[in-house]
Amino acid sequence: DNKETQDELKTNVFNASLDLDDVVSSSELPEWEKVGNLSMTVLQGLSKLGFVKPTEIQAKTVPLGLEGHDIMGKASTGSGKTLAYGIPILEKLVQSQATKNNDPIGLIFTPTRELAQQVSQHLQKITELILNDHNKYSILSLTGGLSIQKQERLLKYDGSGKIVIATPGRFLELLEKNTSLLERFCKIDTLVLDEADRLLQDGHFEEFEKIIKLLRSYRKKSNKSQFWQTMIFSATFSIDLFNKLGSANHHKKKNEKEDELQ
Ligand code: ADP
Ligand code: MG
Repeated sequence: DNKETQDELKTNVFNASLDLDDVVSSSELPEWEKVGNLSMTVLQGLSKLGFVKPTEIQAKTVPLGLEGHDIMGKASTGSGKTLAYGIPILEKLVQSQATKNNDPIGLIFTPTRELAQQVSQHLQKITELILNDHNKYSILSLTGGLSIQKQERLLKYDGSGKIVIATPGRFLELLEKNTSLLERFCKIDTLVLDEADRLLQDGHFEEFEKIIKLLRSYRKKSNKSQFWQTMIFSATFSIDLFNKLGSANHHKKKNEKEDELQ
């Protein structure tokens, strides 16, 4: 059973397609307009925040994220990783408001509730600037330490939880209690592992595997395409993380990068 899950993770979830070297190596920083097909709405939000140009990791990954690629991005703390994965998700949020579609868009996992709150506030802040009829529950942080009943209630509002930032433990608890949430969240467009190294190390791996397995088994019954987009971001990528992510591709990369990473 565990073997099956591992294989499923290897083949279906972590088929990240971007060469790490492409992300890490430095080059000229383009302006937002050159980073891909960003909507006027999102561009204006970024400008209102005073973010005149993308950070390096954003310049490298946003265009690929917008095109739906799977991504592994490594960049140090404070380099703007939240919007590196956040902008492609926010573009989908803007579109979904226009088409009045309430399906969940992004599911972001962080290793701690503090990080989940930070990410949630960051995305909330730009969303408030972007959408004039912003539903304050469309971005929800679901972590332990807060009442699960309250979270279940919040998830019942129209248009709530289109972007969810969660810690694996609480999210698994919610899924196991509510089949309706499984049916709903299996339809995400994008899965994000933020601070992936810590996320999969801090005893969360088993919970995380269970979540993926549950979501995937329900996804098969939905009419969504088989794969969601996966974006993995971290300040460090340990050998242990590569082992957990598995896949022949990563295995090769692991050997190539061993010296550098150790
Ligand atoms: P990381 O996750 O890599 O540690 P964050 O996403 O938390 O970094 O971003 C760090 C800080 O940089 C935040 O305060 C954020 O508001 C700011 N920031 C993000 N992108 C930009 C940008 N393009 N221009 C200026 N500041 C930015
Ligand atoms: Mg971060």
